[in-house]
Amino acid sequence: MVTVPRDWHPDPEQMACWPEVSGNDINGLGEDTFRRPRHVYWADDPTSIPHGQAQLWYHGRNTDPAFTQERATRAAIQAQPLPDTAPEPRPGTPAAWSADIKAKATALGAEAVGIARVNPDWAYEGRAISQRFIIVLAIAMDHDAMQSAPETAAALEVMRQYTRCAQVARGLAGWLRRKGHDAVPAQGPMSGDMVLIPAAIAAGLGELGKHGSLIHPKLGSCFRLAAVLTDMELDTDMPLDFGADGFCTHCRICADHCPPLAILPEKQTVRGARKWYVDFDRCLPFFNETAGCGICLAVCPFSRPGVGGNLVAKLARRSGREKQETPGPEA
Ligand code: SF4
Ligand code: SF4
Repeated sequence: MVTVPRDWHPDPEQMACWPEVSGNDINGLGEDTFRRPRHVYWADDPTSIPHGQAQLWYHGRNTDPAFTQERATRAAIQAQPLPDTAPEPRPGTPAAWSADIKAKATALGAEAVGIARVNPDWAYEGRAISQRFIIVLAIAMDHDAMQSAPETAAALEVMRQYTRCAQVARGLAGWLRRKGHDAVPAQGPMSGDMVLIPAAIAAGLGELGKHGSLIHPKLGSCFRLAAVLTDMELDTDMPLDFGADGFCTHCRICADHCPPLAILPEKQTVRGARKWYVDFDRCLPFFNETAGCGICLAVCPFSRPGVGGNLVAKLARRSGREKQETPGPEA
């Protein structure tokens, strides 16, 4: 891990691209009532968002030939037309289809798969999700490569895995369409029509961590998300609760390693919900200058192979003991 000085300051050239409005205001930090999210970054059309000039500055600065090659590979995959949906949907129960979809997604390369019923509130303001179900895919990143964050090798690993996100999501969507079920892929890094993290939580792919990313019991935070939206009836998964949220309350590893001190120590109210939150205005300048940072994902103990699994087992034992020690109402 590269040590970044605590007195890090953003490049004035970058900050000249920044708008007056705070990204935290766009995200709804401090707002007590619910509203849908607004695009704050990674917009398909950067001119449509206040931080679009900063997004363009990011792309203008991070021109390593390996990045350019990886972006071109991903763009080529995403430009491939999806097959037409076969006219006769192949029948099957929701349980059987869910099992088949998970097996196919795994065969295509997903390290974890979950299914949730779509919540229309996951769509950005002004956008809509027309399908009823979402298949969420976790695509693992290499932990060793991520240890170089915020250097180029980590950024390249993130890009490689976004390419794999495109391959797996399009492969799964195409497979379903050939079986007569309409399906549409979705993936980062561009923000598209909806936020993927709430969908992944609903689909049982992890808990939200203090660093604002997911923690999966096996993959830790070393993964990226992709998805396939479909209208076919499927069995859904349950959100996970393996104790990561409580663990974050007492852990500060990511916050201590974050050079611009962007990871807030307490949960915040964001659009009517209490949750872990990363200060956008602090994180993004550093993120922009380091081709995507990623330090917080790399240092999270749940991400470390061999350590994350032990932590999950320990949390399970502790929770079992707590349950035994807490008398039920009939005791
Ligand atoms: S990605 Fe953002 S929040 Fe995470 S360590 Fe880097 S600057 Fe901090
Ligand atoms: S490093 Fe610690 S506080 Fe941060 S997300 Fe991971 S477990 Fe939570």
